Amino acid sequence: MDVQDPRMRSLLRQANKVADSGKRAAAEQLYRQLLEEDSEVAEAWFGLGQVLNDATEQKAAYQKALALNPEYAEAVRALAELRGEPVPAWAEAAIVEEEEEEPEVETAVPPQKSSVHEHTAVSVADEEVYEFVCYRHPNRPTSLRCYNCGKPICSSCAIKTPVGYSCPDCIREKEDVFFTAKPTDYIIAPVIGLVLSLVAGYLVSRFTLGGGFFTYIIMFFVGGIAGRFIGQLSKQAIGRRRGRYLPQVMVSMLILGTAIWILPYLLVGGFGSLIIFLGPGIFLFVAGGALYSYMK
Ligand SMILES: [Zn+2]
Ligand SMILES: [Zn+2]
Repeated sequence: MDVQDPRMRSLLRQANKVADSGKRAAAEQLYRQLLEEDSEVAEAWFGLGQVLNDATEQKAAYQKALALNPEYAEAVRALAELRGEPVPAWAEAAIVEEEEEEPEVETAVPPQKSSVHEHTAVSVADEEVYEFVCYRHPNRPTSLRCYNCGKPICSSCAIKTPVGYSCPDCIREKEDVFFTAKPTDYIIAPVIGLVLSLVAGYLVSRFTLGGGFFTYIIMFFVGGIAGRFIGQLSKQAIGRRRGRYLPQVMVSMLILGTAIWILPYLLVGGFGSLIIFLGPGIFLFVAGGALYSYMK
């Protein structure tokens, strides 16, 4: 019984290689990934059995392999050894025979599969330099692996993180856990944020434009409280969900809601009188920071 699909064959070879190098957890992952795509690959069940730690799970894997191919000598032997039973003589003989044949099997590919042959020849040659092939691009050899799940990734799929290279699947999985905001949250929260910012901006512009030192001190406190308050209210309205861009969107609403009241003064007074905007400026700076960190 042979694996016909070139992609499956490449995955299987890769998994066997990882298993041979002693990386059992990474190999297990690869076998499982392969079996998820095609659960009828006896070799993958056998390989999985070899890298599992739990004897019951190992037995189950070997039995799966044998259900698909009852004459799978290695699986028969492994299962017998696991059960402490004698290995049937025919299985031992078959394994010895196969081991003698193996070098030939590796290199000689039937001539009728010429396109497959070319493909195999290329990847075998490349594997001398690169250890694996990318799990998303089976034709791209690579030596990179995802630090999290151990899957091989090519350089264009690898995403650099502070702890190492990650595959796109693992990145997405982590983000999905963290960012749960629904599309409507991106409407509800900014609308609430804008309304509150308009109120706050109006009051701030009324009481601080041209204000002196005392106003600046007050704006430090008011800004912090206002930013937090706006964040709290809008976050409550969206069920405390997080959105990847929500902090930026909310700060934009705050700037918009405040700037609208200051703009007329700016147009009349020009930039020459910038000092009168110091009060609102401090407010925006402190409130924006508080809002941003609250929404994060
Ligand atoms: Zn790739
Ligand atoms: Zn990964």
